[in-house]
Amino acid sequence: MRLRVPSKRYPDVRHTVELQGSQVRCTCPGFYFKHKCWHVVVMKELLAYRWQMRLQAKALGGMVCS
Ligand SMILES: [Zn+2]
Repeated sequence: MRLRVPSKRYPDVRHTVELQGSQVRCTCPGFYFKHKCWHVVVMKELLAYRWQMRLQAKALGGMVCS
């Protein structure tokens, strides 16, 4: 899964946040130097949300089937 995110400092610049296995990486300088940035936080929140939706769908589907 890959996400294109805008740079906070430079509006013209886009960074790529990428999920590799269970690791989230980003191409921005903040991640390069500190190994964390808000892009990664956004990506993780998005993944958590998707996971939650999937679980809910499964729970609902289970209820319908049984
Ligand atoms: Zn970043």
